[in-house]
Amino acid sequence: MKVTIVGCSGSFPGPDSPASCYLLEAEGFRLLLDLGSGSLGALQRHIGLYDVDAICLSHLHADHCLDLCGYHVARTYGPAAPYPKIPVYAPADAPRRMAAAYGMPEEPGMETAFDFVRLAPGIFEVGPFTLAAGLVNHPVEAYGFRVMHGGTSVAYSGDTGESAELVKLAEGTDLLLCEASFLDKPDLPTDLHMSGRQAAEHAAKADVGRLVLTHLVPWNDQNRVLEDATRGGYGGPIELARSGAVYELG
Ligand SMILES: [Zn+2]
Ligand SMILES: [Zn+2]
Repeated sequence: MKVTIVGCSGSFPGPDSPASCYLLEAEGFRLLLDLGSGSLGALQRHIGLYDVDAICLSHLHADHCLDLCGYHVARTYGPAAPYPKIPVYAPADAPRRMAAAYGMPEEPGMETAFDFVRLAPGIFEVGPFTLAAGLVNHPVEAYGFRVMHGGTSVAYSGDTGESAELVKLAEGTDLLLCEASFLDKPDLPTDLHMSGRQAAEHAAKADVGRLVLTHLVPWNDQNRVLEDATRGGYGGPIELARSGAVYELG
């Protein structure tokens, strides 16, 4: 499995990265985890505009889903339209919310381009991948994912505060893409986001092969986020996510 970080900026795009988007490829199949603000542009540095086979949205905050609006235009009105519909796995309210974000009638909404599939906790197949989705701790319906293929695995936190479910999803994975939105300090808010230290504690509990800190908020000093992570008791490699970084697993 090949994992490409398309966007890793937290809450809004930064100067060097769009908001959340991760490209997972295996057997020629291309799956996106999130399609946040700005990510559709950077995605085209890695694959063709129409090469996406499926999309999974962790939750419906703008920095994780908003470029579905532009992608709907591309697939509905592009030069060879209509393009085949692709599945979009997303929280329950996605068809209505995305239609509202675009300013289009709810019927048919974006169903001309996408087949929305309602996410629920559990295991399901997407192309050659096996996915596990679990509810994480964020103010809206939000999922973390484990994606498996051919003996390799990656986990993605989405947005979450400390989460036992995330530890379960990440258990023994080769790579954990874990959000680290906060600079560490005492009494961080719960059920919202995590610091680098908390991300590393999750990586240690789940015994993952590598920790990549992501959802990096542009107003933070990222060196401090990385430094915070060294205090989380995790002994494996830790690095900051970077738009364009590629991880070949297996
Ligand atoms: Zn976010
Ligand atoms: Zn969020």
